[in-house]
Amino acid sequence: MHQRLTLLGATGSIGDSTLDLVARHPEDFSVFALTAHHNIDKLYRQCLAFQPAVAVVANADGASRLSARLKALGQHTEVLHGPQALMAVAAADECDTVVAAIVGGAGLASTLAAAQAGKRILLANKEALVMSGALFMASVAESKAQLLPVDSEHNAIFQCLSNHPEARPERLILTASGGPFLTRPLETLEDITPDQACAHPKWRMGRKISVDCATMMNKGREVIEAHWLFEMPPERIEVLIHPQSIVHSMVVYADQSVLAQLGNPDMRTPIAQALAYPRRMASGVEPLDLTGCEPLVFSKPDLRRFPCLRLALEVAHAGCELSVVLNAANEVAVAAFLAGALAFSDIARVVGQTLEQTAEVAIGSLEAIEDTDRRARARATQLSGLPPTRQ
Ligand code: NDP
Repeated sequence: MHQRLTLLGATGSIGDSTLDLVARHPEDFSVFALTAHHNIDKLYRQCLAFQPAVAVVANADGASRLSARLKALGQHTEVLHGPQALMAVAAADECDTVVAAIVGGAGLASTLAAAQAGKRILLANKEALVMSGALFMASVAESKAQLLPVDSEHNAIFQCLSNHPEARPERLILTASGGPFLTRPLETLEDITPDQACAHPKWRMGRKISVDCATMMNKGREVIEAHWLFEMPPERIEVLIHPQSIVHSMVVYADQSVLAQLGNPDMRTPIAQALAYPRRMASGVEPLDLTGCEPLVFSKPDLRRFPCLRLALEVAHAGCELSVVLNAANEVAVAAFLAGALAFSDIARVVGQTLEQTAEVAIGSLEAIEDTDRRARARATQLSGLPPTRQ
């Protein structure tokens, strides 16, 4: 069936991979809306190539610039701006499928709007689950939205699950590359630069998630994401380092059958699987050469090397109530690190202290979550030694 897409975060790395697949299968997909934040030039080029009915950017100035450039070429894309417009294109009747690929908590409200509108959602924005897992999953159930995980690990698990309701898995194993600092001497972690942290050995991704991979906060957040997606207690979700990034995750059943999904590390595979589900379609990804690839090795993560993973696991094992605080503090600390204002090794300190110092966590509604998020960001900003920002 032909799908009309809203692509939230079109100008990012997931956006690029998604549009590459759309271009390969024009008979199966058309684009209703594309959104960006500030990258007007890239969104302009994407609008010319994919002719969306609507484009959304951060502010009125960007919207009028983009609109003028498109009109000059006779293109009738309507250009909107701001968070309300993101929610509107996510919930619009004119779209069937929403690819949720905005980075960070900024993607929460629009992803939730897609869930409330009962869309088919391809979920890359893990914050929707990390910040508001209970609320988000309740909205999906209530509206009968279809949730398809795009994160490669969760997509792998999704592919390994049995369709039979009584064949529940006993455990999940999330694999992790270990990032660029898996073997770097611990005493040198302080000197790491943003470009070094973003140079992931296997995956090409946006800068925020690249830093999260280097600290392994990403894997900790993925445990929380898997807990909500697959109704699996965090204690039964194991993390294993697998530097080759060929086995994308595993599912263990009671009879000790271990099912794994393998493939080259290229996000077009999980996105293609989710776009085409339940069919399959070509992705343009290089075939996996099992006789030519490095030996596949697995080991347990060292939590002294990866204190952010330890903090995220502690939050997960304590019931995930503090995961909105974990997420907010990490976003602030990573942004400060990327701006050159915080040392790499201080990211975990800021997150740990924010967790200790944020009292009164409320997560029952979007407003309560946004309020907790704001307070945690303010505290993390202070702990990062940055001037207060308007929240
Ligand atoms: P990028 O940083 O490459 O892209 C982020 C996108 O979000 C861009 O389109 C950006 O617009 C937009 N954006 C940024 N800030 C805002 C904001 N405040 N409001 C609205 N839009 C905004 O990120 P990735 O594509 O790497 O990641 C996207 C999401 O997918 C993240 O949640 C990440 O954790 C998840 N993910 C990514 C994977 C990957 O391989 N990249 C793998 C698995 C999950 P602009 O370009 O204008 O700034």
